[in-house]
Amino acid sequence: MQPRDLSAHSPYVPGRGIEEVARDLGMDPADLTKLSSNENPHGPSPKAVEVLREYADAVHVYPKASHSDLTERLATEWDVDAEQVWVSAGADGSLDYLSRAMLDPGDRVLVPEPGFSYYGMTARYHHGSVASYPLSKADDFTQTADGVVDAYDGERIVYVTTPHNPTGSELPRDELVDLLGRVDDHTLVVVDEAYGEYAEGESAAALVDEVDNLAVTRTFSKAYGLAGLRIGYALVPSEWADAYARVNTPFAANELACRAARAALDDDAHLEKTVETARWARRHLREELDAHTWESAGNFVLAEVGDASAVSDASQRAGVIVRDCTSFGLPACIRVSTGTREETTRAVEVLNRVVHEVTEA
Ligand code: PMP
Repeated sequence: MQPRDLSAHSPYVPGRGIEEVARDLGMDPADLTKLSSNENPHGPSPKAVEVLREYADAVHVYPKASHSDLTERLATEWDVDAEQVWVSAGADGSLDYLSRAMLDPGDRVLVPEPGFSYYGMTARYHHGSVASYPLSKADDFTQTADGVVDAYDGERIVYVTTPHNPTGSELPRDELVDLLGRVDDHTLVVVDEAYGEYAEGESAAALVDEVDNLAVTRTFSKAYGLAGLRIGYALVPSEWADAYARVNTPFAANELACRAARAALDDDAHLEKTVETARWARRHLREELDAHTWESAGNFVLAEVGDASAVSDASQRAGVIVRDCTSFGLPACIRVSTGTREETTRAVEVLNRVVHEVTEA
C-alpha cells in the first residue's frame, strides 16, 4: 500500500538543534549557542513555568476549562468576542484550522516567496494548491499591496507575514488596508504576526472587526518563550467565527500549554525584557556584522554572506548555530536569531571571523 501522491509535498526544514549538532560534530552541547530557530534566549516566562509545575499532576483531565480561560483572556486582550479566538497547537495549528475552514479541494492560496513554508504545506495537506508573490532582495524585500495584488489571481487565502520571516520586513498598516480592499470578496487575508511583539507598529488585530476578510495569527512560541508547548491562536471575523467548532481538533491545545500561555500573558516583566533584548540585538547585529544586513522588526536579522551553506557550517563548528537560508531560496543569506547580549556578541565575533575565512578560501 502507498499513501496518496505526496510528491508535491516537501518536508519542513527546521533550524538545527543543539543536541543534534553536538552529536554530529562531537562537541559539548554547552559550547553551542543556538540562534537558528528564533526562540527566546531568556527561556520561558517564569510565571508560565510556575504554572507548569503547579499543574503537572492535573494532566489526566482533558483541557476544557483551561482552554476556555485562555480564550476569554485573549478575547479581553484583543477586545473581540471569545468566539473569534481560535486557540490551537502553535500558530501552525491555526493555519491548519483556517485551511480546513476555507479551502475546497483545488482552491489556491497565495504566499510570499521567500517565506514561511508551512503556508504552502497546510494548503497541500488540505488538497489545495499554492501560488506565490515575490519579495525581492533587490527591493530590500519591501512589502506593498501592489506587490501582492500584481500576483493575485482570485486565490482563496492570501498570506502576509509581518514582521516577515526570514527577512524582517513589515507590511505597513496603510498597505494592508489597501490590500484588504482590493482582493475579491471570497479571499481571506491572513496576517501572520508570529513576531508581532518585536515590532514597533500596532497589530492588525484592531482591524479584524472592521472587515470580514481578515484573520490574524499569533503565537506563544517566540516572545513568550513557549515554543516547546505548542500554543498559538488566530483572531477571525465574527461572521464566521463559529466555524471553529466544526474544524478544530478536539483538545489539540493541551492542558499545560493553555494554562502556561494564560500565565505568560500576565508576565509583563518577561515580555519587556525579551523585546528589549531583541531590539538591542538586532541593532547590534546590523551595526557590527561585516555583511550586508536588512532592517528587521523581528527577533532575527538576515545577512548576506556569500555561500550561506559554507558559512553556517563553519559557524556551527565554531559554536554558533545560525539558519542557512538556502531552503528559503536565499542561498547567499543566513538568518541570525537575536540572542542574549552575551550570545549575540559572541555570534558577531564568530560570524565575522568565519565570513572572512570562507570568502578567502
Ligand atoms: N509563522 C511564522 C512566520 C513562523 O516563523 C513560525 C515559526 N517558525 C510560525 C508561524 C509558527 O509558529 P508556532 O507554530 O511555533 O506557533
